[in-house]
Amino acid sequence: MKSIQIAIDGPAGAGKSTIAKLVAKAFNFVYIDTGAMYRAVTLKAIRLNVNLADDNAFDFIDQTRFDYIDGNLIMDGENVDEMIRTREISNQVSLVSSHLSVREKTVKRQRALSEGKNVVMDGRDIGYHVLPNATFKFFLTADVETRAKRRYHENLNRNIHSSLEDLKVEIIARDDFDSNRKHSPLRPADDAIIVDTSDMSIDEVIETIKAKVREDEALWKQNSQK
Ligand code: C5P
Repeated sequence: MKSIQIAIDGPAGAGKSTIAKLVAKAFNFVYIDTGAMYRAVTLKAIRLNVNLADDNAFDFIDQTRFDYIDGNLIMDGENVDEMIRTREISNQVSLVSSHLSVREKTVKRQRALSEGKNVVMDGRDIGYHVLPNATFKFFLTADVETRAKRRYHENLNRNIHSSLEDLKVEIIARDDFDSNRKHSPLRPADDAIIVDTSDMSIDEVIETIKAKVREDEALWKQNSQK
């Protein structure tokens, strides 16, 4: 049986991880949060006190272990999923992820982790770079107000108190940096389905994705026999 890959890309705060996690659960697929990997690399680089601006400072990635267990990222045996969501990491991660050396090393891991498995993978470059042959490709967007509000509530749930205005400024800056970087910038694959989630509930987005997957079910079942 051919494995099924669902790629979900989009800007910060578009609800990718919430949606991807629930879609993975609904289909019993593995969920791979690639943003978490870049965040974890940033955390480790800070701990190792390396210069985040130096493209050559990231050889440690090759000696780092990444596992996804129940959607949580485990780095070198430590569950870092909570501590990589801080503001400090959010504000440094785009610089780290812009280095070609970092991207080459992490993309290799992301592909290895998805090899032969049914996966939902979310990020910025999944549909056109990491998994260009993904069975389904979605690009989730929402206006910046909505995205900042979502991040605000997400933070509150994690007991992080932030100002909505600051979050908006940070989201705009991060998207701008991610979209304009040289190596695999944030953009939809040419064949991605664009979903504007500004006025949609989580359930509605999930239903949109599930409906599309079911619609093509017969087709991929047919292909998977080949
Ligand atoms: O999705 P999340 O907001 O956790 O991603 C954090 C950062 O990781 C992004 O702002 C981006 O710089 C980087 N990233 C990336 N490519 C991906 C996923 C995330 O460059 N596939």
